[in-house]
Amino acid sequence: MGKVMVIGCGGVASVAIHKICQNDEVFTELCIASRTVSKCDALKEKLEGTTKTKITTAQVDADDVDALTALIKKEKPEVVLNLALPYQDLTIMDACLAAGVHYIDTANYEPEDTAKFEYKWQWAYREKFEKAGLTALLGSGFDPGVTSVFSAYALKHYFYEINYIDILDCNAGDHGYPFATNFNPEINIREVSAKGSYWEDGRWVETEPMEIKRVYNFPEIGEKDMYLLHHEEIESLALNIPGIKRIRFFMTFGESYLNHLRCLEDVGMTSIEPIMYEGREIVPLQFLKAVLPDPSSLGPRTKGKTNIGCIFIGKKDGQEKKLYIYNTCDHQECYKEVGSQAVAYTTGVPAMIGAMMVMTGTWQKPGVYNMEEFDPDPFMDALNKWGLPWKISEDPELVE
Ligand code: NDP
Repeated sequence: MGKVMVIGCGGVASVAIHKICQNDEVFTELCIASRTVSKCDALKEKLEGTTKTKITTAQVDADDVDALTALIKKEKPEVVLNLALPYQDLTIMDACLAAGVHYIDTANYEPEDTAKFEYKWQWAYREKFEKAGLTALLGSGFDPGVTSVFSAYALKHYFYEINYIDILDCNAGDHGYPFATNFNPEINIREVSAKGSYWEDGRWVETEPMEIKRVYNFPEIGEKDMYLLHHEEIESLALNIPGIKRIRFFMTFGESYLNHLRCLEDVGMTSIEPIMYEGREIVPLQFLKAVLPDPSSLGPRTKGKTNIGCIFIGKKDGQEKKLYIYNTCDHQECYKEVGSQAVAYTTGVPAMIGAMMVMTGTWQKPGVYNMEEFDPDPFMDALNKWGLPWKISEDPELVE
């Protein structure tokens, strides 16, 4: 069918690239382009011979629009899958516009110097993508991504209107370290140390970090502590789900993780304000990232499962109705299949599926779109086929 260019070659990209190579009828060619080309070359070497997908690699700094545009023009992919960091979203969108190719990512833009993520910067590109006749698909990971597709699916098949959504992200995996993050430590710590917020009655309600705690009995896992966080899909779901009154997002954290995080915050190690150290400027959080375990090294040691899903409460035929759609994923099984733990797996698989939806034309519409704005059915079928089967419970435990 066609060619995809993946930008970035970290934890999530590695899974997406394995899946692209499994899906070689759709992705006949792949260019892996990242800052450190040796990582791209190592993956190419590992995968060649296991797939019909023709793989090339390239070095690129995705902050440099001209260099990236030139590379895209040279490689001529149909779609670019951005699996670098949220800081690169806008420059990669600019390069896609300049080169005339579709764009997909998994996380919304975040300026490097302020730990604040919002869709406004990327939504401002709507007219440019419409005029160019190109599709930009935002947030094709698990959360955002699959959680957004679950919401569209629930609305299409089960509800007249959805009034409440609780998105629950449980990682019950144990990697044996007292403290490590499951994806890019800098992005992860910026997210969890920020103030929490949820959407209620048409406005944001802000909370202190980790202020709201609940205990939930997760299917196939058991009881876990979870905390309310701000999360990016709340912003788009609040606009795209009719009748919505409240959307909250909860993520599970263990005691050890929280104690370490508190201590690191107290001593200033999670700060993104640059400081002078031995005559050179360093950002404490970036230094912390350098000393923490690399998330991609957690694969062999992480045991246990993840459970991510959404609880919906709404109405159908005048009656109140509740529904829970979720996926569970086993860290060790992911590792056996693609050499990564489940957090990277649950993000990399939907990234590949999003690229497939756009590449095949199943989800193509000129403009900039969030995942819940497309027909969820083909994506839901693809989740079952490509390693993230989902389940539905019509009588779930609710979150207080
Ligand atoms: P990693 O840090 O493991 O990988 C990032 C990759 O991007 C690295 O290969 C890095 O290069 C490359 N990169 C960084 N800057 C540039 C640049 N300027 N030019 C070219 N390449 C660059 O991150 P993850 O794989 O953990 O995360 C990838 C993305 O997935 C992030 O945006 C994250 O927020 C998102 N994510 C989304 C989730 C979801 O469910 N929606 C869940 C988890 C993550 P190098 O190898 O040189 O460091």
